[in-house]
Amino acid sequence: MTETTTSSSERPSLPMQGVPQPRREEVLNLPRVHISSHPVMAHKLTAMRDKNTQPPEFYRLVKEIGALLAYEATETLALERVEIETPMRPMIGQRLAGGIGVTPILRAGLGLAEGFREVIPEVQIWHLGLRRDEQTLQAMEYYNQLPHRVDLQVCYAVDPMLATGGSAIDAINVLKRRGIPRLCYVGIIAAPYGLLKLSQTHPDIDIYIAALDESLNDVGYILPGLGDAGDRQFGTL
Ligand code: URA
Repeated sequence: MTETTTSSSERPSLPMQGVPQPRREEVLNLPRVHISSHPVMAHKLTAMRDKNTQPPEFYRLVKEIGALLAYEATETLALERVEIETPMRPMIGQRLAGGIGVTPILRAGLGLAEGFREVIPEVQIWHLGLRRDEQTLQAMEYYNQLPHRVDLQVCYAVDPMLATGGSAIDAINVLKRRGIPRLCYVGIIAAPYGLLKLSQTHPDIDIYIAALDESLNDVGYILPGLGDAGDRQFGTL
């Protein structure tokens, strides 16, 4: 999730205080939600969560987890046939049909997008800046670098933390307006509250995450979580 900004002092300062949240078990089997069960993912995630992990290593882990998530989330991509010649003889091979887009929600999504690029260097990166008002937790768009020409088979909105779901829902709304045939959300850790909101608001997308945590605290941070994913990647602690 996104940058935060403070505004009106009249607004509640503990936006999740008293807000009912679903329990983890209640959202474990939502349709189109894929929670990784890969042991290497679990191993890297534990290293990331550790408060002693410093920004350079944290960023490297975000990229590596991004690459693992990219591998899992691209499992069902469409292929097309292509004629090639090996050094031995002609053959019919396969290649990805249509472009692949990745939309990092700034700034915390940047490391995940780099992980996608390591798996598929041809991906188009469509930057989208959403800022979270820390009083209301509403997401506001402040930067949009989406191209005019859309030639994608799929676009992945990527953001490490699916907390209240506000910016993920908004990002998918923005991408839906571009007419992309298939959209997915990819994150590292989700809270049950945000996962349920995103899945109910956009039941037509696939959601890939590395872990489902317990809850949100009163200010909308994930517990046990890993703290602020943007600050920990970029050293602005
Ligand atoms: N954004 C973060 O970076 N961490 C959280 O726990 C929630 C939102």
